[in-house]
Amino acid sequence: MVKLNENYSKLPGSYLFAEVARRTAAFSAANPDADIIKLGIGDVTLPLPEACVAALKRAADEMADKATFMGYGPYEGYDFLREAIVANDYEPFGVKISPDELFVSDGAKSDCGNIGDIFSEDCTVAVCDPVYPVYIDANAMSGRAGDWDGEKWTNIVYMPCTPENGFFPALPERVPDLIYLCFPNNPTGMAATREQLQPWVDYANEHGSVILYDAAYRAYMTDPALPRSIYEIPGAEKCAIEFGSFSKTAGFTGTRCGWTVIPRALVRGGESLYDMWMRRQSTKFNGTAYVIQRAAEATYSPEGKAQIAKMIGYYMENARVIRSGLSAAGLEVYGGTDSPYIWFRAPHGAGSWEFFDRLLSEAGVVTTPGEGFGPSGEGFIRVTAFGDAGRTREAVERIKGIL
Ligand code: PLP
Repeated sequence: MVKLNENYSKLPGSYLFAEVARRTAAFSAANPDADIIKLGIGDVTLPLPEACVAALKRAADEMADKATFMGYGPYEGYDFLREAIVANDYEPFGVKISPDELFVSDGAKSDCGNIGDIFSEDCTVAVCDPVYPVYIDANAMSGRAGDWDGEKWTNIVYMPCTPENGFFPALPERVPDLIYLCFPNNPTGMAATREQLQPWVDYANEHGSVILYDAAYRAYMTDPALPRSIYEIPGAEKCAIEFGSFSKTAGFTGTRCGWTVIPRALVRGGESLYDMWMRRQSTKFNGTAYVIQRAAEATYSPEGKAQIAKMIGYYMENARVIRSGLSAAGLEVYGGTDSPYIWFRAPHGAGSWEFFDRLLSEAGVVTTPGEGFGPSGEGFIRVTAFGDAGRTREAVERIKGIL
């Protein structure tokens, strides 16, 4: 009889967004006429930039011609895209990363989870709390999280991010091997400064830990002083792996493309982590589709850049509307200036799910309860700026109306 991976049976109930969907469907079934506005799941709503669609079509035509047809591509991605990412997302920020240190992926989510393949099952994992649930669940599946005690995983180092510490974690007493950091952060919407990140880089180098830096929301940073990449921090090339994504930058959530940087200088136990990841990818991954990589390349064309700037401007205007509207209603509001997420405290000490239910039933607005992102998220709600502008304004008015 086959034996199953028992770690899966330890995973608690339904995934956060499944529970949000379940409650929304139940409300909708009970109130078929209700006009529901969804500001919950962090998916984009605007179509792909025209420059990307044109590149996709051109690449599809190439695939239709024997002379230009492309079969299996390089495991680490085509040079044209690796070079474009480095030239546009690293060089302008003074980061010396070579295209040869970068793997094209099918999005940040897969690699954030799969990167665990190259580390021992005994590694201790630290995460910000609240956090994008994938980091914890992926490590729970491979046995690194210990047991679920109803609130937390016994082997995960939770690093609270609260208003008291400016939503930036303190260095933990128990030294973790793997440290997930995500800035601008999902769900709190807060970005990190150089001064905040430098001690983490120094700490990781001192203890031989590895930082797994998720920069999926970097395109939403508006403050020019904030670092776009962990590699802007001296020493990071010796301790950090960085994940990037076209999902939120260019509406690629359904198109799927991202990247992972593993500097050659990142060595642990005498092994190059780049070489290990290359070995892993060449065994378990056959590359991102050529047509998709061409579409991603087009995000860096002059037209692509202009279209993306417009798209991000649209979402950031939503963020401004949500931020100012909720603040004016007397709520304690965070994020939304360097990220597409707004994080606010439920009023009068209400619990996250309690206030989520109230927003759904009284305002017809779907949000995400902070508790679903970790224990320190209890009492908070996440709202996304990825919705339609008119509907977002209406949602804010409705929320103001019930407060
Ligand atoms: N990282 C964070 C922090 C996210 O919030 C998300 C998606 O919501 C992802 C990664 C997933 O990115 P991708 O679509 O590139 O897999």
